[in-house]
This record gives sequence, C-alpha cells and structure tokens, in this order.
Amino acid sequence: MNAPVSPPVQTFDATGATPVMQQFFEMKTRQPDALLFFRMGDFYELFFDDAIRAAAALGISQTFRGTHAGQPIPMAGVPHHAAEAYLSKLIRMGFKVAVCEQMEDPAEAKKRGSKSVVRRDIVRVVTPGTLTEDGLLDARGANRLAAVAIRAGQAAVAAVELSTGEVECFSTGKEGVGPLLAALSPSETLVADRLLADDHLAQTLKICGGLIQPMPSALSEPQASETRVKRLYGVDTLDGFGGLAAAEIGALGLIAAHLEMTQAGKLPALRAPRRAAEADVMSIDPATRSSLEIDRTQNGDRNGSLLAAIDRTVTPGGARLLASRLARPLLDPAAIDQRLDAVEWFVEHRSLRERLREQLKGSGDMARALARLALGRGGPRDLACLRDGLKTGEKLAGMVGGSGDPLSPPPVELEGALAALTPSLHQGVSQLLNTLEAGLGPDLPALARDGGFVAPGIRPELDQARALRDDSRRVVAALEQRLIQEAGISLKIRHNGVLGYFVEATAGKADPLFQPPLNATFIHRQTLANQVRFTTVELADLDARIAQAAERALAMEVAAYEDWRAEACALAEPIQAAAEALARLDVASSLAEWSEDAGAVRPIVDKSLAFEAKAARHPVVEAAVRRAGDPYTPNDCRLDAAGEVAARLSIVTGPNMAGKSTFLRQNALLAILAQAGCYVPAKNFRLGVVDRLFSRVGAGDDLARGRSTFMMEMVETAAILTQATPRSLVILDEIGRGTATYDGLAIAWACAESLHDTNRCRALFATHYHELATLEERMAHVSNLSLRAKEWNGDLVFLHEAADGPADRSYGVQVAKLAGVPPQVVARAKEVLDRLESKTESPARLDDLPLFAASAPVAAAPVVSAPSAVDGALKELDVDGMSPREALEALYRLKGLLKT
Ligand code: ADP
Repeated sequence: MNAPVSPPVQTFDATGATPVMQQFFEMKTRQPDALLFFRMGDFYELFFDDAIRAAAALGISQTFRGTHAGQPIPMAGVPHHAAEAYLSKLIRMGFKVAVCEQMEDPAEAKKRGSKSVVRRDIVRVVTPGTLTEDGLLDARGANRLAAVAIRAGQAAVAAVELSTGEVECFSTGKEGVGPLLAALSPSETLVADRLLADDHLAQTLKICGGLIQPMPSALSEPQASETRVKRLYGVDTLDGFGGLAAAEIGALGLIAAHLEMTQAGKLPALRAPRRAAEADVMSIDPATRSSLEIDRTQNGDRNGSLLAAIDRTVTPGGARLLASRLARPLLDPAAIDQRLDAVEWFVEHRSLRERLREQLKGSGDMARALARLALGRGGPRDLACLRDGLKTGEKLAGMVGGSGDPLSPPPVELEGALAALTPSLHQGVSQLLNTLEAGLGPDLPALARDGGFVAPGIRPELDQARALRDDSRRVVAALEQRLIQEAGISLKIRHNGVLGYFVEATAGKADPLFQPPLNATFIHRQTLANQVRFTTVELADLDARIAQAAERALAMEVAAYEDWRAEACALAEPIQAAAEALARLDVASSLAEWSEDAGAVRPIVDKSLAFEAKAARHPVVEAAVRRAGDPYTPNDCRLDAAGEVAARLSIVTGPNMAGKSTFLRQNALLAILAQAGCYVPAKNFRLGVVDRLFSRVGAGDDLARGRSTFMMEMVETAAILTQATPRSLVILDEIGRGTATYDGLAIAWACAESLHDTNRCRALFATHYHELATLEERMAHVSNLSLRAKEWNGDLVFLHEAADGPADRSYGVQVAKLAGVPPQVVARAKEVLDRLESKTESPARLDDLPLFAASAPVAAAPVVSAPSAVDGALKELDVDGMSPREALEALYRLKGLLKT
C-alpha cells in the first residue's frame, strides 16, 4: 500500500485489548475515515463510533460487546449475505466503507493454537466512484470517479468508469473544469487539498463533483503521479498515451493513488485514456445543462429529460453511451456525420434493425462483467455474460455485414463495430468464446465457490471426482437399506454441516440400537427430543470419501473458473472493444427507432455560423402536449452570426404562457441533438457547429448558496457575456426581471447590445420589455419574433406560433384572468392599464393616476383630521421604483387596508 490518502491517522490505545480487538484497531488505523465492516463469521460487525453512526444511519440495533478501557464497546452488525443492500445505503448517504474480510478458515487459525486469531485484511474500501456491483449501480447510467488537477495554470479533468474500465482525460483552462465535470457528472471527485482553497473551484466541485475527496497535494506531484500511473497501467513509459500534459498526469495520478488504496492492490482492467481537448466537445456549463434538462429534470428525475424522451436503447451499455453522447456533443462535422451515417443506415434498413434489436436485448453488460472479473469480484455468471455478449456480437456482425445490400454497405461507424464483434478476427477471443460455450453448464451460481457450473465432459478429472461423489451417494443409499435390514427398525441416513453423514432413528424406536449386538455397529452421536443419531464405521469412512471427492471437485471447478477468468482478463482490450461495439449498434439503431417514432430528420451540420430550423418541435414538451390530447405547433427559427442569411440576434416577445421558453429551449436542444449525432424533430435543420451553448432560462433561487434570484441571474449572465464566441449559441429568457422595471430594462438592453456587438454570437433573447423591439431598427443584425396569441370573445387564445415582428401587447391582464385573479381586480387592472397606455400618461407619473377611485366617497369627505392607514401606506410607496408586479401587489395591500 502507498502513502495514506486519508486524513491524519487516528490512533487507538490498544492496551489491554483482546487479540481480536487489537486486530480491529490495527485495521481501523489504516482506514480512519471509513466505517470498518469487520467480518466475524456470518456478520460484518462495526465497533465504537462506527457502530453508533452506522446504527443510526441504517436503522439497525446497536448493542455492546465486551469492554475496552473499562467501557462497554458499542457494536452493530449486518449479515454478510445482506451486506450489499446496507453498503449501498451507506454509500448513498456519503459514507466510505472499508471491508475487512477473514483471510483464512477459522479451523486454520485453530491449528496455530487455541488462542490464535483468524487472519483478516482490508480487501477493499468502498466509495461512490469505485462501485462495480450490479446491485449498487444504475445499469443505464455511468458511475464515474473523476480527478481534477491544475499545473502551471493548465487544468485537467480525468475520469474513470471502474465498472467498464473506460478512462477519459481532458485538458482545459480553469474555467473549463465546471462544464467538463457537469458533462461527466461523477459520483466522486478527487482533488488535491490545496486546490480547495480556491473558492471558485471549491464551489464548482460542490455543484457538479459528487462526493469530494480531498487528497494530499503530494499525490498529484509530477514524479509521484507518473510512477503511479505507470504502475496502474503496468507500463514503463506513458509515451504510448500520446504526450499527456502535466496536469493530466496529475489528475490520473490521483486516480491511481485512490485505486491503489481502495482496491487493496487489485488492479482494474483499465483502457488507455481517451483524450479530448476542450476543442473537441461543445462546452455546456452546469447552469445551462440543468436549465435545458438534458439528462435529468431540474427536480433530478430522469423522466421528463431530453435523454429519457429519445432513449430507445435496449442494453445498459447502449443507454450509457447515449447518455454520454448527449452530455458531450461533438464539434467536428465529419465525426458528427459518421454518427449520423450510422443512424441513417438503420433508418433505411428497418427490418434488419428490428431483428438486430431483438438479438441485442440478450447481450447483457459485458463491460461491467469484465470489470468485476478483473477486480476479483466476479463469478460464473459474469463469464456467462461475456459468452452471451460475444456470441450475440458474432451473430450481429454476420447480420449487418451480410446485409447483402451492395448499394448501401454499412457506413464507417458500423464497420468499425463489426470488426470488433467478429471473434474470428481475434484468435484469443474466439478461443475464449469456444471455451466458455463448452465449459459453462446451464445452472450458474453467483460465486465460483458455490460450484456446479462447469459443464460435464470438459475436465476429465473433475468428472471423475464428481462421479465418485455422486457414486458415493448411491452407496449411501444402499448402505441405508442394509442398515434398515440389519437393525430391523426404520431409520434414515442424513447429512448436516456439523455431523456430516449420520443415521437417524426416532427416539421411541432407537432402543435396540443401544443393545448388543447392534451397539457394536451403531455408535451413538447425539440425542434430540424426538430423534437419536448414530454413526457406523462404514458410514464415517464413506463420509470422509464423499467430502474429499466433493472438495476435490469444487477445487477443480474453482481452478477452472480462475483459468477462464485469467483468460478473459488477458483479453480485456478486445472484449471491451466488443462491448463498446454492441453499445454503438444499440445507440445507432435506437436513434433510428426514435427518429421514426418522432418524425425526426437528419440535420446538416457544417462550419457555417447559421442556424436554420424549419418546423421544429421540442421533443419533451411535444410528447407532453400530445399526451394531453393537444396538437403541438412546429416553429421555424433562423439565425446567422455572420448576419448574411438571417439576423444574429432575435428578440422574442409574447405574453406569458405563449411558448417563449419552450421555443428557446427547443432550439438549444436541436443544437445538442444534432452535434451529438442524433436526428432532430424538425422538417429540416442546418446548423453551423456551436462551440459553446449558454442558456439562462427561468429564475432559480439558489438560497442554499445565499444568492438571490437576481444575483444568480447576473452571475450567469456575466459568464455568458465574457465567454460567448461568434460560434456560440446563447438563449436568454427574461433577463432583468428580478429588479425594478427601469433597472431591468436597462440591463436587458445593454446585454442585447453586447451580444450583438461584442460577442457577435447567435442569440435568442426572450423579454417582456417591449421596448427592446426597437433594437431591430437601431442595429444591423437584430430581428423581432413573437409567439402569437389572440383575444377571442374576451379570452386569450395561445397560438404557440413564432411569427416575424414583435408582440403587439403583453396580455398580462388577460393571463391574470386565466390564472383566476378575482374579476374586480382584473377589471381594475384593465382600467389602470388603459390609463398607462394612453399616450398622455407616462409610467413615471403613476402617482398621478386615479388609482383609488373606488375609495372616492371617503376621499371626497371635506375634512380628514388624521391621515388614514391608506394615506400612510400610499406615502410609503416608491412608485417610480416599482415593477408592474410590485405595483399590483401594492394594490392588493391597499385594498386590504381599506377593508379594516
Ligand atoms: P412562456 O415562456 O411564454 O411563458 P412556455 O414556453 O412556458 O411559455 O409555454 C407554456 C405552455 O404552452 C407549455 O407548457 C406548453 O404546454 C405550451 N406550449 C408551448 N409551446 C407550444 C407549442 N409550440 N405547441 C403547443 N403547445 C405549446
């Protein structure tokens, strides 16, 4: 084990402790910040503080066991067969758990003397980012362990998916860490402790880093990191990974240190780091990602997200690949086209697609099975999973490769997958497949030590041992018959773990067996309430032979398992490639499936600065609207940062509920889908690659971080204005709403100007400030769009239709009516509005309005000796500084005062 990566080592005073407790203290000292699951027989026991914390967290009872330093020792335990469920709960609650196992049979320990203690060792430290068990993982989601390192101003993020062996490495500027982590969505992030002094980075990590593990800074030093990374990969030089930057090595070094520590020396089968520069993927910051609800909604649900709407994958690997593609859309049109070619091919080959997807369903999760095997946590079922996956791959390769359509051969993306899936192209893999097909029997236990999984006819010695074992059982049955005859009473030969084989007779009839001559044969072992148990010399002999044969058979099965496991692990690379190929087939075919269901089309992605969507739809809102039985109105959107084919900036107006936010998000989602290599729900769509996507939609208070809505809005707006490039796409919804009218209008105005003049990016700017509509006349590349509504018999009807030109009015009063504001308030608001809108009144002179006509009789009284409550309240009002909403609220307050 290497230098400890945990907080300062805790010490215990072990004086006077029992040998077992001394062993516990030693283990605990090695993992002071983890709960220690200390294996004792069939239980994992926790002691001292661990017991108290775990009992409270798990709702299990806490007892005491013996004393230490004169105090009773708190203890809590979980049965080992149910440990996974408890582990999962603790990990989800943010605990780290060290698992300490018995490393030998208690009988072995006894041989060293009656006082000797069973050898125990920590076999693993379980943390959120290092889980591999199916039961602890979401099959359709990745579970990443990330690390962040910064060296000489250059930052790097590395991420490993331990359960599939995938490793990724990104170099970026410091401000790129947030978007990268948000895209990777790790469940645990390692970071050198000194970096946490940087407030901004610490905040970023808190938002999107999962559980944060501070690591001693020394672990990310270049020399130490390089040595660890080499050890992790078992290589002498890192040159084969193509010139990793110092920060990348630092980040990978943290991961290597964490794995060495948590996996207790068992190294996972990791793939070479796949590297990506910031320049390869669309940058989407955490706020944008959450507001667009890409892989989960703002409430954290998968349902209702873009991913859930388009996901038709049928394998866990496919589901994970689709999620990762959507999280990181590409920038290179050629690479995007390759993905789109594959989708298109499956759109064209419908019946083949259907057959292929039927097969795919049974292909299991090879990547995760292999990872478990490599870490020594697998079993025969994982081998079977490899067998089934490789077999399915072989079938699919034949199916797609032999599609027999010379005019439309599989495109490059699929051809690569086919090569990885053709076992005959890789001798080792095809041998492994043969071995597993022949070697694994039909009934597979979860663990090799349960035996019974090696097919007969594979290993002659195993067959012999099994025959002996089974034959002996037949001999037992014959012996039973003989003993019955000899004894002249009914008896049975039974077996249990303590006595082995024994003869059992009912208590009332057992007497003759104690008498001569039978007592010469029957040797008494045990008397129970209703039964008496005996053995015979012959039976004891048989028992030993049977046990030996069973033991030998099991040892041979375990050896066979180990051979196959080693063979599979040696082939980790081609097996992982095959697993990924299956995932690619799944993603391409499932996107084709969705495209057909949703009426989506292939987008054109090029290097222009245009955005031209025709009759586009929002994939999630459309589904929801249709479920409610309503039609969805498709909309066009045309932008061009170059200002040639369309305006650069569109000001979007329209009443509340008209569909502005939906329209804005819809266009952002089109860009994500297209660059992720998916079809898009539109009649057609052309997109000049978007390098950064920014979205400021809706107001979300972040009170937990002590920021008001308005402050949040400004922080996010600042990020956009400083980072958007001419290649970026920005959607801004209702900027400046959280402050007074003129403030807000002024800010919105200045932002629009800056986007147009300085950032020069494509932007959709939804606003309720109709004044912004005049920007169209003042600036070269601004256009007005409005989401239409019309009044119909005094009611408002939303058309959800984006049309050229600004909205004629904001219909706030009508929306208030729809929302159930009392009729007299609506009528009064209408009256106020008419006055405000009449040219003679300016909002600056609100105080001149006859706002309180209703109270005219009182006001008309000739003398008022003392000012009324209403007078007082009126005086307090800062009318110029009020937003329309605040004015309405003030109205309510005033009316309330009148009543009293
Ligand atoms: P706004 O941002 O203008 O207040 P939203 O975008 O929130 O409006 O849309 C309000 C509701 O209108 C949505 O929840 C959806 O049900 C419906 N809607 C929006 N756009 C459309 C459309 N294009 N076709 C049909 N219904 C739509």
